[in-house]
Amino acid sequence: MDIKNLELRKAYQKFLDDYSQVNQNLSESFLTELWRKYLGKNGVLTVVFRRQMSTLPKQEKKDFGIEFNLLKDFVQSLIQTKKEDLIGIEQKDYNSKVLVEFKVPEFKIGHFHPLTQTIRDINNIFRSLGYSIVDGPEIETDEYCFQRMNLPLDHPARDLQDSIYISEPDILLRTQTSSIEAHVLEDFKPPMKIVMPGRVYRNEKVNKSNHFTFHQYQMTTVQEKVSMAELFSIINYLFKTYLGEDTVVRFRCKYYPEVEPGLGPDIQCFNCKERGCALCKGRGWIEMGGAGIRHPNVLRMAGIDPEKWQGYAFGLGLDRLAMAKHGITDIRTLLSGSLVYKPKA
Ligand SMILES: [Zn+2]
Repeated sequence: MDIKNLELRKAYQKFLDDYSQVNQNLSESFLTELWRKYLGKNGVLTVVFRRQMSTLPKQEKKDFGIEFNLLKDFVQSLIQTKKEDLIGIEQKDYNSKVLVEFKVPEFKIGHFHPLTQTIRDINNIFRSLGYSIVDGPEIETDEYCFQRMNLPLDHPARDLQDSIYISEPDILLRTQTSSIEAHVLEDFKPPMKIVMPGRVYRNEKVNKSNHFTFHQYQMTTVQEKVSMAELFSIINYLFKTYLGEDTVVRFRCKYYPEVEPGLGPDIQCFNCKERGCALCKGRGWIEMGGAGIRHPNVLRMAGIDPEKWQGYAFGLGLDRLAMAKHGITDIRTLLSGSLVYKPKA
């Protein structure tokens, strides 16, 4: 910049010296100080202006004024440009430090809990067989939980399960979904085909394969004639449809007071394929529940004439079905809140 006025030229040189430091010291305060030093009330340029305007001869004032304004604009624009650079740098810095931390990592779509999905899938299988779905209370009376299932107060089978009582000896958390069935048999008129998924409670130690709260899937059928062959085929159909055609199922004779005869379906352990593991307690098979032909006493207590109607029923471990389906080897995982197990589509 070509400046004729000596004072202005000195101020200009001084400014250029200071400005050469700007990149090393780039900050809001440095730029503000620079502005104040040259353009402030007692700034270098302001003082020169004041002095020159009072001492210069009148005819030189105009040229001085033009030079002064040019220099003032020059200084202002350099400082302003650096301010804008600074804002850009700070913004970039802010973006990389702060905004990145708040960036949504990955959009996740939720999914049903494996148990909910299992209930829905099995409901669909039974809907296709003409069954209705019914729910019932989780807090139950001794009568509907035990007595209606042919377990009188002094029946030894009551020792098979330790229960969680709300008010002994009458009110408890249901220990089995058969309690829903006790209501269903009483409330509906035969013939009936009904399934009942639900949560049940027992006073059990929690470990890899047992939990104090778990789920069962109950089925009851009442019609004029029933057969074991029909019951076998329904259970087989359920396991093979839900778990796959290659699922190996076996039936064992079992005793349950609410059925006669009674049986228990097992599936080959999905974890060890019969070699034996912690999940199946070394047996190679997993017990899936109990089933059988309805005991006439149960029908009679519900007001159904056993001479006219027959029935069969099962209560299956729903958690074990979900575990087999999704390859879950620890029942505690189901209620732990882990998002690891995503139901297969
Ligand atoms: Zn096993």
